[in-house]
Amino acid sequence: MSDYRLLIGGELVQGDATMAVLNPATEEVLALCPRASETQLNAAVAAAKAAFPAWAATPIGERRQLIGQMADVIEVHAPELARLLTSEQGKPLADATEEVLGMAAFFRYLASLDLPAKVIEDSSGRRVEAHRRPLGVVGAIIPWNYPLLILGFKLPPALLAGNTLVVKPAPTTPLSTLRIAELVAGILPPGVLNVIADANDLGDALTRHPDVRKISFTGSTSTGRKVMASAAQTLKRITLELGGNDAGIVLDDVDPKKVAPGIFEGAFQNSGQVCLAIKRLYVHEAVYDELCEELAALANSAVVDDGLKQGTKLGPLQNRMQYEKVKSFLEDARINGKIVAGGEAMDRPGYFIKPTIVRDIEEGSRLVDEEQFGPVLPLIRYSEPDDAIRRANASSYGLGASVWSSDPERAYQIANRIDAGTVWINKHIDMAPHIPFGGAKQSGIGVEFAEEGLAEFTQLQIINGAR
Ligand code: NAD
Repeated sequence: MSDYRLLIGGELVQGDATMAVLNPATEEVLALCPRASETQLNAAVAAAKAAFPAWAATPIGERRQLIGQMADVIEVHAPELARLLTSEQGKPLADATEEVLGMAAFFRYLASLDLPAKVIEDSSGRRVEAHRRPLGVVGAIIPWNYPLLILGFKLPPALLAGNTLVVKPAPTTPLSTLRIAELVAGILPPGVLNVIADANDLGDALTRHPDVRKISFTGSTSTGRKVMASAAQTLKRITLELGGNDAGIVLDDVDPKKVAPGIFEGAFQNSGQVCLAIKRLYVHEAVYDELCEELAALANSAVVDDGLKQGTKLGPLQNRMQYEKVKSFLEDARINGKIVAGGEAMDRPGYFIKPTIVRDIEEGSRLVDEEQFGPVLPLIRYSEPDDAIRRANASSYGLGASVWSSDPERAYQIANRIDAGTVWINKHIDMAPHIPFGGAKQSGIGVEFAEEGLAEFTQLQIINGAR
């Protein structure tokens, strides 16, 4: 058992209670984790509020340099952090290492951005300047699928812009975030960064808190709605990165053997627990049977095991609730489609589900209409591209999508007609800190990354002077 602490006002403190964090590969207790009370949450917000004026007045170059120092420390500790991440989240160690280093890369790139004032007009009549001011205290709420990468999306732009921060990781994956808080605690002035852990019971208080000026939230669409409602009380700024039901559209001109590995990766990365995973695949009838076979073969040969074991391709589902939910999707697949690979949980401790390919399934089934967020992919047959586009768009989600074709021009034309925040061509899930990312429809509000994402952590202020 390790000794984790909350970070409040520059102090590493015990929680008012504790809670057990499990290893999803074994279901054994990995560590006892501090659990913050509402009083501690309020203390974290108060510390962030008190630290705000001095941090906002600190030159941006200094803030950038301190964020860079945090990235240095994270990189030095990458092997330790990756093992901890695998142990609490479940993903294979190689992927966890990539996540930790990816997080540091996001720190560096996002902290390299700038917020220059712009002169909008300088004439004999007036001088008008546009400034980007910090907002104040920001609350960052993180889900359990990419605890560190998603922290890397939020922390650097929030702090670079001059805000102070209260971070709340997900209850089942708080440890790697708390460890990072411990590692970087001495770098920033007290109160600039606060990290609390909860048992899924403090999100509402944080989003409602009158001294919090913005919420940057990543999680499910249903919780996103609650965040929006709570934030409405004080008209907080919100960025919501929510769920998805990404469609892949495979055209009749592909070589199924060639596209299958990329599609498999796009659907089964992180055991399918990716907001942007391919969650339903529309396949032209000309290549349908062959692609089903290729994907089934990949599913049957993928090694599913403890992420700490070398060679593991898919780890367990992250928590029991998600495991039970994905099992209910398997039940739906059995009734409404034909399972050609996987189809069951593994008979061992841990939340393991075999990668599953389902064919001869359509809309009207839960597996096609809802977000499964697990290693189960439905393949839906179509014969007319217009019909595939219509069906891909017939969802309340609009996070990502992809088009697979040997003719890029054709693929671009289809991509232009898809209602999603990101559409890839001949790939799925390719993100970088300089490419803005956000969801259409009920997949989110606002964007993250790049200048556009940084701007969301600021208040635009116009100074308009008479001549
Ligand atoms: P979740 O919505 O259950 O939880 C996310 C976070 O919100 C957790 O930290 C949780 O403790 C907190 N929370 C719970 N109740 C709250 C409340 N009332 N107010 C404020 N916060 C509250 O999501 P999850 O199950 O952890 O994550 C899976 C979901 O997240 C999937 O739907 C997935 O698609 C989505 N997701 C989206 C993105 C994206 O960028 N769009 C990225 C990753 C995950």
